[in-house]
Amino acid sequence: ILEVKDLKKTFGDHEVLKDISFSVNRGEVISVIGKSGSGKSTLLRNINLLEEPTDGDILFHGQSILADNFDLRQYRAHVGMVFQSFNLFHNLTVLDNVVVPQETVLKRDAAEAKAHALDLLKQVGMEPFINAKPGQLSGGQQQRVAIARAEAMDPEVLLFDEPTSALDPEMVDDVLNAMTALAHTGLTMIVVTHEMAFAQDVSDRVFFMDEGVIAESGTAEQIFEHPQEARTQEFLRRYL
Ligand code: ATP
Ligand code: MG
Repeated sequence: ILEVKDLKKTFGDHEVLKDISFSVNRGEVISVIGKSGSGKSTLLRNINLLEEPTDGDILFHGQSILADNFDLRQYRAHVGMVFQSFNLFHNLTVLDNVVVPQETVLKRDAAEAKAHALDLLKQVGMEPFINAKPGQLSGGQQQRVAIARAEAMDPEVLLFDEPTSALDPEMVDDVLNAMTALAHTGLTMIVVTHEMAFAQDVSDRVFFMDEGVIAESGTAEQIFEHPQEARTQEFLRRYL
């Protein structure tokens, strides 16, 4: 569904991503782990084209997302992103945060968008808060709304950049539970996370990034129980 080919990203003379290649199959959940500064966010931001790759290519259903005539707005509906900071529309209610993008981007009619939104907000346990404004909610609640909003676009792939790292510890589980439920629906997900238990339990594949490369990749069991590379072992010793 997605193919990243020889992706490079440099800022000035700093090579942040060096020759990254992988492909993502439909329904796969991939966790990306690694030290701060290893390039995890930059990788997601290139896949979402929030940053322009310096070199290499990214194919979505075999089509280059870097082509001149590529429809970026539609692509971003198909390949959504959930950020560390929740990025909700603060002047809109919880319900409208999930309804409005369906109307503007997908041209859904109001009744259909609302029914879909209510269904998704219920799944993440946010139905009681549909008339609240984001500012009245805790971080974990806002993040669950952000997940429902991303889901409302019927994405084929969702990218998550440390969705729980800005949350108070007691909020983390609610968000991870929502993400685990999503993973079980068969959605394709790439999740940058420091939540090693989540990465271990939910992922089909784990990428360990170090200094701009995928230093090691494998099943969760291979990476967490039998890491081959010294730098993976060292990272896990510190985090587990
Ligand atoms: P963290 O775990 O702290 O979020 P990360 O693995 O997500 O780290 P990135 O945010 O991808 O790391 O950053 C990788 C490197 O790229 C860092 O050295 C960072 O300073 C640099 N970098 C990222 N974005 C930019 C930018 N827009 N301009 C210049 N340098 C950048
Ligand atoms: Mg980051």
